[in-house]
Amino acid sequence: MKFDTKIVRAEIKPDSTTGSIVPPIYQTATYVLPEVGKDKGFDYTRSANPTRQILEEYLAFIEGGKYGVCFSSGMATVDSCLKILNPGDHIICSDDVYGGVSRHFNRILTRYGLHFTYVDSTNSLNVKEAIRPETKMLWIETPTNPLLKVTDLHAINKIAKENQLYFCVDSTFSTPVFLRPLEFGADMVIHSTTKYISGHNQVIGGAVITDKIDLFDEMKFVQKTIGAVPSPFDCWLTLLGSKTLHLRMQKHAENAQIIAEFLKSHSKVLDITFPGLTSHPQHETAKDQMDGFSGMICFELKGGIEAGRKLMNNVRLCALAESLGAVETMITHPATMTHVDVPVEERNARGLTDGLVRLSIGIEDPIDILNDLELALDKV
Ligand code: PLP
Repeated sequence: MKFDTKIVRAEIKPDSTTGSIVPPIYQTATYVLPEVGKDKGFDYTRSANPTRQILEEYLAFIEGGKYGVCFSSGMATVDSCLKILNPGDHIICSDDVYGGVSRHFNRILTRYGLHFTYVDSTNSLNVKEAIRPETKMLWIETPTNPLLKVTDLHAINKIAKENQLYFCVDSTFSTPVFLRPLEFGADMVIHSTTKYISGHNQVIGGAVITDKIDLFDEMKFVQKTIGAVPSPFDCWLTLLGSKTLHLRMQKHAENAQIIAEFLKSHSKVLDITFPGLTSHPQHETAKDQMDGFSGMICFELKGGIEAGRKLMNNVRLCALAESLGAVETMITHPATMTHVDVPVEERNARGLTDGLVRLSIGIEDPIDILNDLELALDKV
């Protein structure tokens, strides 16, 4: 099966009782057992649900993995992955992760005895040098949110294998259309399915994909024990959205390239970051390991925060909103929105300045996106 066919069809069979081509929403909490000690594969929806199971198998299939486990949000997924560790364990994490991830690590998980070191993982030497005897996991986000740093997954995998560390990749920005981290040796691939995978701003969700049965068993155990599960309806909505993932990703990437080139040559733009531009510091790595550069751009205007604020308040088509990866183009101010809980000194050290603007390019006609930005830039 070719990749595009996989995305549309996977191995989803028509419903066995009615032939319904779209899987039914099994909106139930529990299941009646035929007799004591026997069930039909399901006993309670926190443990398993047929609609959720279809989504889990589907996501594993398109990621090129064996097992998928879904959660009620990307953050619940991140939290559940870290639940396989023990107090005293140390994690090395990309320094530019989504602000909600570092908030969770620093303000919740440190209370339970986990320790974190943040390094610029685009240089694998930084990762190697941060390893301690108690290091158990490498947590890599690529491209990162919001600075779009790209990490060489071959290099990190080598370090993980040499040191017997769990190798986790948050691939939310890439999706399986552009990157399949399991092919690079990752143990677990994490997605906020809220973003590109569901794709229409219709749902919050997350998933982890793995090839390893022991990790799958652990994640299933965490899922049923903690219960951060998505509703059957949310699973169904995610499944429906994801059937066009390949088409959407191509259009997101095409549009983003056009907008990035436009912004690069605009006199009011100080600096622009997009992995598809040759000026991006990891452009070659991105070109080698990804099949496309996805739809995220970040940039800074001459005039910093004030200029950025004017731009964001003057766009009409671009929606000023927190999220990313949906069909609508969205514009975000990371310093006051998605990364507000990253302390200001840390933001500055990362290069996440107050003037940074993030664009999640949608699948509208690129001329309309460009015109909207151009008119708003005129007012800056
Ligand atoms: N990982 C990345 C890279 C993200 O950008 C986000 C959210 O923006 C998350 C994880 C968390 O996902 P959710 O908002 O679905 O909890």
